[in-house]
Amino acid sequence: MRHFINHTEENYLKAIYSLSQKPNQGVSTNAIAKSLDTKASSVTDMMQKLAEKGLVSYKKYYGVQLTSSGQLIALNTIRKHRLWEVFLVDKLSFNWDEVHEIAEQLEHIQSSELTNRLDIFLGNPKFDPHGDPIPNSQGEIENYHDTLLLSELEIGAFCTLVGVADSSSVFLKHLEKSQLKLGSEIRLINVFEYDRSLSIEVANIQRSISNRVADNLIVKPL
Ligand SMILES: [Zn+2]
Repeated sequence: MRHFINHTEENYLKAIYSLSQKPNQGVSTNAIAKSLDTKASSVTDMMQKLAEKGLVSYKKYYGVQLTSSGQLIALNTIRKHRLWEVFLVDKLSFNWDEVHEIAEQLEHIQSSELTNRLDIFLGNPKFDPHGDPIPNSQGEIENYHDTLLLSELEIGAFCTLVGVADSSSVFLKHLEKSQLKLGSEIRLINVFEYDRSLSIEVANIQRSISNRVADNLIVKPL
C-alpha cells in the first residue's frame, strides 16, 4: 500500500538520505533540524509520523535511519530533482546557478510517468549540471568512489573538477568568477599553513581559493 507523501515529508527523507551518506549510523534529530533550518522538536514530531508510515526507524538517543521504502522515496525525489535540473539547463537554457531552487519545486511532482518520459526525452542522463549522479527508476545511484574533495588532494597533483558539494547560486557564481566549471583541470600548487587556503592553477592561470571553497569541490585525481 502506498501512503500519500507530502512535500515536507519528501524533503525530510531527502535530508536524512544526504546526512546518512557520511558515517553509516543513525542521523541525529539535531543534524536534521540544522540541515532543514527548523526546530528539533518539529523534527521529533515528524520522525514519529514517518516511523508510523514505515519510512524511517527512529529510536530516541540512537537517531534516525531510513527504511528501504524511505530510501526509495528519497532517491526518487533526488532523481526528479536532478532530471529537472538537466532539463532546465539543456532545454530551457538556464544557467547552472539558477536551477536548484526551481528543481526544489519540480521534484515534488508525483507522476512517475512524467519522470520516466522526461528521462527518455533527455537521453537518460547520468549526471546533473552540478555533476551529481542521477538515480535510475529502480533507485540505484552511482557512488563517487574515485573522487575526493579538492581540499584532500596532494600538493602537486592534477585533477578534474567533476562535481560541487554546494549547488547554491552564490557558490556557483563565485566559481564562474574564478573560471572554474565542471571538467576544468586543476593543479594544486600549494596549501598555506596559516589559513589552509589553496593556490591552484586552472587553464595556465594561478589563483588562490579559500579552504571552504576547496571543501565544496569534488574532484577526480588525474
Ligand atoms: Zn539541485
